[in-house]
Amino acid sequence: MPRLALSNVEVVYDKVFLAIKGVSLEVEEGDIVALLGANGAGKSTTLKAISGLLGPERGAVTRGEIAFGDLDLLSLGPPKRVEAGLVHVLEGRRIFGHLTPEENLLAAFPSGRSSARFTELRERVYTYFPRLKERGRAKAGYLSGGEQQMLAIGRALMTEPRLIMLDEPSLGLSPLLVQEIFAIIREINEREGVSVLLVEQNANAALEIVRHAYLVENGQIVMDGSAEVLKQNPDVQEFYLGGG
Ligand code: ATP
Repeated sequence: MPRLALSNVEVVYDKVFLAIKGVSLEVEEGDIVALLGANGAGKSTTLKAISGLLGPERGAVTRGEIAFGDLDLLSLGPPKRVEAGLVHVLEGRRIFGHLTPEENLLAAFPSGRSSARFTELRERVYTYFPRLKERGRAKAGYLSGGEQQMLAIGRALMTEPRLIMLDEPSLGLSPLLVQEIFAIIREINEREGVSVLLVEQNANAALEIVRHAYLVENGQIVMDGSAEVLKQNPDVQEFYLGGG
């Protein structure tokens, strides 16, 4: 698994608005790391800079360095980054509501590969998310919010990622479901060895599963450390963990 390293990354929207101001961070091979911060802090923009969803056609310019192993990601378009093993699960799930879960998985499966491989990967997704198999014939648009999030993660697994980036997987889910999905994310990280970069406003839940976290405010990293250390930090408790 290659290591992801951002060094002094800046993102400018609409030529004037500096949304990301010199972010440096690392995700070691097989690691599980969170980017925590309030709404609008710049977490989603950071993920988009990594996956390449911020081209000039979107009025955004990314500067600095983003390396994935020995690849210079900023010189590669988004499809090449997916081929390199990076997958980005966008906020809001973005599944195909008019297709069944299985059809969604098929749509995410890279073309030109064998149907046997598809079956293998699909079954692997179903071992993590048996509910998707049970809901086999339902259109994905009728799945619950939690099931849709499971499907979004399942789709990402169909690309056989080496690093999976998840934007707010807890959004709109009950605390119990958040726990369930986070436990599965942790399991995927441990069993598959796939690295995880998790963006969350829900710091409480995220710090239960990640090893290391970065706190983002106003486009900058203001603090980082191991989950254990951050949980004990009084500022983190006050501002991110709801007063501990
Ligand atoms: P959220 O959880 O709401 O997604 P976030 O921490 O992910 O928050 P970003 O979405 O990265 O934050 O936004 C960072 C800043 O960039 C915000 O001030 C936001 O308004 C601005 N921004 C985001 N997307 C664009 C865009 N396409 N054009 C201009 N400004 C943008």
